[in-house]
Amino acid sequence: MIDATVTIDAAGATAWDVLVIGAGPAGAAAALRCKRLGRRVLLVDRGWFPRPKVCGCCLSPAALRELSMLELPLGALPPGVPLAAVWIGCAGHEARIVSAGGATLSREALDTGLVRAAIDAGVAWLPGTIVTEITEHGGGATATVRAPTPGAARIEARLVVIAAGLADAIRIRTTAAGRDNTAHSRPRRIAAASLIGLGTTLPADTGPLPAGELVMAVGSAGYAGIVRLEDGRLDVAAAIDPATMAAAGSPVAALDAVFADVGGLARVSVPRAALAAVGIRATPALTHTTPLAAGGEAAIVRIGDAAGYVEPFTGEGIGWALASARVLTGALAGSTSPADFRARFSAEHARVFAAHHARCRRVAGAVRRPWLCAGAVRAARWAPGVAARAMPWVVGGGGLV
Ligand SMILES: Cc1cc2nc3c(=O)[nH]c(=O)nc-3n(C[C@H](O)[C@H](O)[C@H](O)COP(=O)(O)OP(=O)(O)OC[C@H]3O[C@@H](n4cnc5c(N)ncnc54)[C@H](O)[C@@H]3O)c2cc1C
Repeated sequence: MIDATVTIDAAGATAWDVLVIGAGPAGAAAALRCKRLGRRVLLVDRGWFPRPKVCGCCLSPAALRELSMLELPLGALPPGVPLAAVWIGCAGHEARIVSAGGATLSREALDTGLVRAAIDAGVAWLPGTIVTEITEHGGGATATVRAPTPGAARIEARLVVIAAGLADAIRIRTTAAGRDNTAHSRPRRIAAASLIGLGTTLPADTGPLPAGELVMAVGSAGYAGIVRLEDGRLDVAAAIDPATMAAAGSPVAALDAVFADVGGLARVSVPRAALAAVGIRATPALTHTTPLAAGGEAAIVRIGDAAGYVEPFTGEGIGWALASARVLTGALAGSTSPADFRARFSAEHARVFAAHHARCRRVAGAVRRPWLCAGAVRAARWAPGVAARAMPWVVGGGGLV
C-alpha cells in the first residue's frame, strides 16, 4: 500500500495551488505535471493503492507515447507485455489481426507506478479520502472531504481538478458573481444507449491464452476482451447492455452470454465457475459528456473519464486520460488569467479529442450491428494485410497531438 504523505489536518491547514481528486492515470499525471510547473499539489483518492479497476489493461500506441512524454524515472513502471495480435470473434466467425502496437499492463502496476512517481516529484498524497462537495469562491475552491481518520473536513485550493472517473458524483456549489448558489449534482449527459463496464482478473492457471494476444468476443449484448497481464493473471473486461445484464440475472451470466454468443470459439472460453469464483466489478454508464469547467471562474475543471468517455472497444481511455492531463497543464502554464486558462483548456481539449471521440463512436456503432461486425471479421480473415493496415486507424494510432 502507498501510505499517505500528509495528514488530513495538515492538508486542511495548507493553501494548495492545486487539489487533484482521483489518482487514476488522469489525476496522477496531472498532479505530477502541475508539480513540475512549481505548484503546491495535493492528490487525493477515495481508494487505497494498489486498487483494482475495471479495464482491459491495453496501453494503445498513443498511451505509450503519452507515458514517454511524461518522462518518468527509469523503472517507475514495470515493462508491459507487448501486444502482438488481436483475435476478434463475432457470430461464429473469428479473425486474427496483427496489432497496431501497444502493450498490456495491469492497472495495479500502472496506477501505482504513476502515483509513486508523483509522490517522488513532491506531490502530497492522501488516500482513503472521499471528496463529496466543492464550493467555488472568488479566489479558488473549498472541497468537503470524508477522510478515514478524524480531522479537517475542508481543503482549500486555488484550482481543483476533478479526475474522479466515471464514478464522479461530486456536488459543485458556485458562489461566483452572477451565478446562483445551487448545488449541481451530476451535470453529466449520459448517452441513451450507453453500455456499462464489467471486469475482473482471473488466476494465471485459468486458461491457455498466450501472452501478447488479446481476444475480443462481440455478442448481441455487448463485447468482452481477455488478455494476459504482466504477472500472468488474465484480465477480463466487458461493455454490456444494462437491460440485458438485468435480464441475465447477474454480471457472471451476462459475461457468459457474450462468450456463448460468439459461437463457442475455443479461444474465448472462460469457465463460468472461474468468473463466479472471483466476483465481477461493474461501472456506471460508460458513454457521457460532462462540462469541462464547473463553477463560474475556472477554479474547478474536469479531466479524463470525468470529463467524457465513449466506449472501451478501441482501448484508448488511458491514453485520453494521460493526454487530458497534458492539455490541462499546457493551458495552465501558458495562461495569463483564470478566464484565459479556461478558454485555452476548453479550446485545446476540443482540438485534441473531438476527432478521436468521433472515430471511437463510429467504431462502437459498427460493433453494435452484428451483421456489419461479422462481415468485417470475415473480411479481416480473407485479407489480413488490409486488416492490419486498418488497425492503427481503429485504435487512434496517430496519437493525441
Ligand atoms: C470495460 C472497460 C475496459 C477498458 N479497457 C481499456 C483498455 O484496454 N485500454 C484503455 O486505454 N482504456 C480502457 N478503458 C478505459 C480506462 O479504464 C479509463 O478511460 C481510464 O481509467 C480513465 O482514467 P481516469 O484517471 O480518468 O479515471 P479512473 O482511472 O477511473 O480513476 C478515477 C479515480 O478517482 C477516484 N475517485 C472517484 N470518486 C472520487 C471521490 N469522490 N473522491 C476521491 N476520489 C475519487 C477513484 O477511486 C479512482 O481511483 C476501459 C474501460 C472499461 C470500463
